[in-house]
Amino acid sequence: FDEFQRFKHHPAIAKYLRDGERLSFGARAIAKGGLRSLPKQQFLGGLLIGCDAGTLNMGKIKGTHTAMKSGMLSAEAVYQQLAKG
Ligand SMILES: Cc1cc2nc3c(=O)[nH]c(=O)nc-3n(C[C@H](O)[C@H](O)[C@H](O)COP(=O)(O)OP(=O)(O)OC[C@H]3O[C@@H](n4cnc5c(N)ncnc54)[C@H](O)[C@@H]3O)c2cc1C
Repeated sequence: FDEFQRFKHHPAIAKYLRDGERLSFGARAIAKGGLRSLPKQQFLGGLLIGCDAGTLNMGKIKGTHTAMKSGMLSAEAVYQQLAKG
């Protein structure tokens, strides 16, 4: 956030914002998730699933879809193993 504020005050950018009118405000900063921060999600006897495993889609700032999908894929994998006995 601080870096973005600095960026907006840089002379190369500030000239476009000067005298502008704020139409709305938004605050979205989530400092987690993304493919590069995903840990190995499976280990003997356990699975890491959901948002806290790091399944957030940073590009789209969407978490629920990927968190749920990780649960669905896990359930399918567990079922397959149980079906094999
Ligand atoms: C401010 C904000 C805005 C967001 N906006 C969006 C959005 O617009 N769109 C979107 O798709 N996603 C959004 N998300 C992300 C989304 O909320 C999460 O990705 C999603 O809720 C993750 O679901 P989950 O089931 O993995 O985890 P959670 O919803 O965090 O559920 C985990 C549950 O486990 C419980 N728990 C924790 N420890 C224990 C324990 N030891 N024993 C028992 N229970 C425990 C917690 O109480 C909680 O109920 C947003 C998140 C935040 C914080």
